[in-house]
Amino acid sequence: MRLFRRSPQTDAATSQALTRTKTSFFGRIGALFVGPTISEDTWESLEEVLIGADAGVATTMAVLDRVRARKPRDPEAMRAMLRDELVAILEAPDKQPHGQLWGELAGGDQAGAVGEATLAPAVVLIVGVNGTGKTTAAARLAYAYQQQGQTVLTAAADTFRAAAIDQLRHWGDRLGFGVIAHQQGADPAAVVFDAVEAARARKADVLLVDTAGRLHNKQNLMDELTKIRRVIERHLGRGPDEVALVLDATTGQNGLSQARAFIEAVEVTGVILTKLDGTARGGIVFAIATELGLPVRFIGTGEQPGDLAPFEPGPFVDALLQTPQAAGV
Ligand code: GDP
Repeated sequence: MRLFRRSPQTDAATSQALTRTKTSFFGRIGALFVGPTISEDTWESLEEVLIGADAGVATTMAVLDRVRARKPRDPEAMRAMLRDELVAILEAPDKQPHGQLWGELAGGDQAGAVGEATLAPAVVLIVGVNGTGKTTAAARLAYAYQQQGQTVLTAAADTFRAAAIDQLRHWGDRLGFGVIAHQQGADPAAVVFDAVEAARARKADVLLVDTAGRLHNKQNLMDELTKIRRVIERHLGRGPDEVALVLDATTGQNGLSQARAFIEAVEVTGVILTKLDGTARGGIVFAIATELGLPVRFIGTGEQPGDLAPFEPGPFVDALLQTPQAAGV
């Protein structure tokens, strides 16, 4: 199921979050498409825009080759073909099954239900490097589910940092969702064990698990996430329904190498791309799709609890290709 449906508000939030990307890089695109003919300069400028926005060199070359092969007659046709190719890149990962809750291919049409079987509580594991916005993302997801009338429980399984536990508790108090936490240094798998028990006892629809993002020792990370997964499997007879990797858009291409470490440690099903509002490198979404093969599910669009938007390839690309005037920037 789609946690949120696309709406005029989410399209506007996406466009607003892309302001920096548009003004720094894609803002130049509008000017490229106004003349009567396509010159070699036009192709070169397009290449610079895409690479500058962190779409990645290989992805940029592949996109431009595909547009060239379609032999656009004029700049307007070129823009339309570029739009198609960029949307196709972003849609591709969702054509494979990834997770049970959020993709087009996921069977459920409401939280906690997949096909005929009721899977309450639906379990989402949230992973990523510290500082990427993991805890904030957990709180925002909780808020979004609550807005849909679902009851949410969270597990503070980042027991490494006292601040992470406090932060989740703070969000829980503020937004009214339950937080299962132990003391700093406790076994994260024990926290998850209690959280699954509590979610079942309280008949919560969704359990969101905030995990630790220590990367300095990949084996530790892998062991910890495997153990958490096993606890969930033992209790519910299945693994987590989604494993959301939180990536900070401001780290651009560097974020991708961090992402690979997590993908090796755990079966990631989708990406939550945070801080899109704070970067000019929104082209990173294309690299995530091509280089990681993962669907972006949600984007962080600002500082408020509601600042999480569903990621929709069409509106996203349309917002990028808008001229600065049309975007009102
Ligand atoms: P964690 O260590 O990964 O759990 O990261 P936090 O959730 O503590 O977030 C780190 C910082 O990023 C906080 O100051 C958040 O307010 C900020 N942040 C998270 N998501 C977004 C976003 O989408 N936009 C902006 N502007 N800031 C964000």
